[in-house]
Amino acid sequence: MTEPNVIGNNASHASGIFCEARHVLPYVKPYKYATIAGIIALLITDIGNMVIPYLMGLGIDGLESEATSSQFLLIVGGCIAGVALVRGLSRFGWRYYLIGSAFGIERDIRIHFYKHIIRLPLPFFARNRLGELLALSSNDLSAVRRAAGEGFMLFADFFFSFIGVLFFMINISPELTFYALLPTPFVTALFIYLGPILHRRFTEVQESFGDLTTDTEETLSGLRVVRSYNQEEAEYGRFQEGNNDYLQKNVRMIRIDAIFHSLMFIIPSMIFPMILVIGGLKITDGTLSIGNFIAFTMYIGQLVWPMMAIGWTFNIFQRGAASNVRVRSIFEESMEMPMDAIPQRATPPKVIEIRNLSFTYPGTETEILKDLNLTIPVGKTVALMGRTGSGKSTLISLITRLYDPPRGTIFYGGVDVLDIPLNDLRSQFATVPQDAFLFTETIRDNITFGTDAQLLSEHMPDEDEHEHLKSVSVGASLYNEILKMPDGYETVVGERGTMLSGGQRQRAAIARAFHARRNILILDDPLSAIDTVTETEILGYIRSAKEKRTLLLVTNRVNAALIADEIVIFDHGEISARGDEETLLKTSDFFAEIYQSQRAH
Ligand code: ATP
Ligand code: MG
Repeated sequence: MTEPNVIGNNASHASGIFCEARHVLPYVKPYKYATIAGIIALLITDIGNMVIPYLMGLGIDGLESEATSSQFLLIVGGCIAGVALVRGLSRFGWRYYLIGSAFGIERDIRIHFYKHIIRLPLPFFARNRLGELLALSSNDLSAVRRAAGEGFMLFADFFFSFIGVLFFMINISPELTFYALLPTPFVTALFIYLGPILHRRFTEVQESFGDLTTDTEETLSGLRVVRSYNQEEAEYGRFQEGNNDYLQKNVRMIRIDAIFHSLMFIIPSMIFPMILVIGGLKITDGTLSIGNFIAFTMYIGQLVWPMMAIGWTFNIFQRGAASNVRVRSIFEESMEMPMDAIPQRATPPKVIEIRNLSFTYPGTETEILKDLNLTIPVGKTVALMGRTGSGKSTLISLITRLYDPPRGTIFYGGVDVLDIPLNDLRSQFATVPQDAFLFTETIRDNITFGTDAQLLSEHMPDEDEHEHLKSVSVGASLYNEILKMPDGYETVVGERGTMLSGGQRQRAAIARAFHARRNILILDDPLSAIDTVTETEILGYIRSAKEKRTLLLVTNRVNAALIADEIVIFDHGEISARGDEETLLKTSDFFAEIYQSQRAH
């Protein structure tokens, strides 16, 4: 086995905040008007913030002058109240628009992510773990959303407030402003030093969460196995370990986060005592009015906030960037077909030819198939038999291109399968995989799953459609059992079909393949969980249908193999014998052996 890939490590480029922001930008585009509205509202709020101290200063200095009337104070007071009201409304506006858009952006990235993942080739899923992918689409995408929403909002707030406040402060006293800005370089130094550490630790947190999700997901989906081997305690122990690891990683991150926050509070707060002393001296000098001094201290309050906000923003951006690198590493995996690929309409069936096919799974050493030659003519049935692990399922994965075969080895209608668009190729086949997988849906949805809805509605009125469903269910010997189910076809089969028996699941998968009406049927050991009486019924149906279709049947049941036009025996990835019953009894020990054991009674 290859080591599981750590998501995010294969992103090959710089991952600075700005670089990541650039990658998120296209997702912001559809929300540009809402974003602009939000920014305007934010601007109004910030202007309100700045005007209030100015008005306060004006009012207070007015008290000293003889000419000040109560009317003047009322007007100033009224203005402050008015500005405060507008500021309140605009605060609603920016939160609504900016945070709202961020949720939209998160949704869009998630949809994109899902569309991408669902088209990634199978080897990708052998390299990456499911829980890690779930973690990406939950925790990491939320981190990106926070950066695009709150992060961006706080940053814009910082930007406007800082510039605006600075303008008013310089207006009052350039000298005092200079002192007030003294801590700024320290704050910057803090970002530069702590930023990368925070980034790294946050990535560790997200990776640990991915591990935890993987463990939980696997334990829950394998709960039957866990229970039957009494492994609850062991699983619990593993879970606890993972959970503790997650806690530790979080604590490591929070430590940096806490240092950062406390320094972000301490440094700017030093401004106040300094300004009290220097400003106080200026008042006694007579170079600063009390009103201006009060306004100035209010501005410092507003300057301290953006300085702290920038720390917080920076933190959110670091997390968002770390997560975005992880998400982006998935987008960099190439899909096996384009996102907008449309399934092909039915075309006449064609011959499948396999020429000198040798195959080794990517990332492994052992050659599984060796110099295979085989032709599956149109409308014929070929049965594959052979010991377990001889490479039968592998051959099917290659024909349907779940794994890519080497160039020049598998041809469909004379064309190398690597040169046929995947959606065209796959629409030729209906496959029953060895592990009959059912979705947590109704039995009807499971059987009709592979059938192109558009094709159906064009070609078939509802009654025929119903007849078709019935005939494939009868064919798969499932009809009577469906009728006995509580809601018939509408019965929900439970998580992955757990409410059905193994044999019922297999037959539902057979019915699904027949329902899809594809040119070529590929059945991988479809009768392994089915008793011999039912087997005979299903074989009768397969035989009646086989006239119209090409059929590739993997089985170690002699009865099933005998319906084939040619039987091929696999041995360690090579064809050891081929032919009909008579020939094989003479040429294949394997065939003779199972023939003896299965036909003895
Ligand atoms: P069975 O009758 O048990 O279904 P099979 O003939 O279908 O067996 P395959 O599933 O084709 O056998 O497996 C053939 C060999 O390929 C086995 O040794 C298996 O370990 C290996 N193999 C199967 N899938 C993979 C994979 N994804 N990566 C690496 N090796 C694999
Ligand atoms: Mg197999």
